[in-house]
Amino acid sequence: MKDSQIKKVTIIGAGFVGSTTAYTLMMSGLVSELVLIDVNKDKAEGEVMDLNHGMQFVRPVRVYHGEYSDCAGSDIIIITAGANQKPGETRIDLVHKNTAIFRSIVNEVKKYATDSILLVVTNPVDILTYVTWKLSGFPVSRVIGSGTVLDTARFRYLLGRHAGIDPRNVHAYIIGEHGDTEVAAWSLTNIAGMTMDEFCRTCNKCEGQLSKYEIYNDVKNAAYHIIERKGATYYAVALAVKRIVEAIIRDENSILTVSSLLENKYGVSGVCLSLPTIVNSSGISNVLDLPLNSDEVSLFRKSAESMKEVIDSLDI
Ligand code: NAD
Repeated sequence: MKDSQIKKVTIIGAGFVGSTTAYTLMMSGLVSELVLIDVNKDKAEGEVMDLNHGMQFVRPVRVYHGEYSDCAGSDIIIITAGANQKPGETRIDLVHKNTAIFRSIVNEVKKYATDSILLVVTNPVDILTYVTWKLSGFPVSRVIGSGTVLDTARFRYLLGRHAGIDPRNVHAYIIGEHGDTEVAAWSLTNIAGMTMDEFCRTCNKCEGQLSKYEIYNDVKNAAYHIIERKGATYYAVALAVKRIVEAIIRDENSILTVSSLLENKYGVSGVCLSLPTIVNSSGISNVLDLPLNSDEVSLFRKSAESMKEVIDSLDI
């Protein structure tokens, strides 16, 4: 990332997720320039007008809608463009539609922004992170998927609610696919250095009622439940994206479960999946090797196999 006072972020796709992300970034004070690009120019323009009318209440930021040439000089380009899940659809169902959309977007982006970090949010996010890496020719460190940052937040929220503890004090990770094969790394879940089982023994408020199965399913199926009720998910994902942007812009070396191209992690290579990863101003700094148990490793490998099958079916 360039070392300059101007922090520029471009968002491609001004739908529910893109415009809510723009709103969270505008509120965050992290960026000084924010560009919205959408194939539906009226939509991008309308969102920009609405955001700009709140300018009096936030730290100064230049917000405008633009063309692909406006990607130039962006520290980060966030891609939220494409089809979203309809009730009953899985994320993988979107793959062919969104791969075609990404082909046109990535080809445009790389004409103007060869030094930016690309942050993919569109689903299926792990596959599209791979597609973006492949089509862009950018280094692995600069192609990031939002991955399971959202799922990890959902997991921590549910564990925190169960235990009566601030979710920020729950250390827990969802790894693998952002989708139906995601894996809860239960063996590493801890509160104040205690494993979840140890914590539950000291707490005992629920008399052993913690159902790992139910919590995992609630995390995994959260998007389906929300989409059934309100048609789309966007608040929490926008906050998750803001958190990733913050870690990059502030060069934080934060550990986030973003998705990136893996090289020999538990025997998995050549697919994008999430593992706890150190994120800083260069993007992906280091994907951590966790002491997972053998069940978790085998679930992680299964998640990778299912991603590999989808990637092999694509014409990229
Ligand atoms: P949406 O339909 O509201 O918005 C999509 C936007 O993309 C639309 O404004 C559309 O005009 C635009 N678009 C389509 N083709 C384009 C192109 N070629 N160039 C530029 N813009 C284009 O959808 P949404 O609810 O905002 O969801 C966007 C994506 O984010 C979906 O794939 C959804 O599944 C995904 N999502 C991901 C996460 C996550 O955790 N990764 C969470 C929620 C949603």
